[in-house]
Amino acid sequence: MRIAIRRFPDMSTSFDAPDGKGALVWTSTRPRTLLAHAVLMAAEKVRQTHGEDGYLQKWQLHAFPTAELEALRHLHLAADDCALQH
Ligand SMILES: [Zn+2]
Repeated sequence: MRIAIRRFPDMSTSFDAPDGKGALVWTSTRPRTLLAHAVLMAAEKVRQTHGEDGYLQKWQLHAFPTAELEALRHLHLAADDCALQH
């Protein structure tokens, strides 16, 4: 999977901006299994560190994506041949 992070001048008004309007600041290509594992572990660490209530207090606009995290975990464990520790 190819990952690209772009910087936009004003994130509060740039949600609909085409990618080409943002400055490319980082890119990488990684196997799907590795990316899914990294996202899963990072999201779990955020939840462990802040809790779902703490996450909402910090993020304010959105609750912690519990259902999405569990769906990712299910798909990752079922479809990826991941040898890393979970
Ligand atoms: Zn994994």
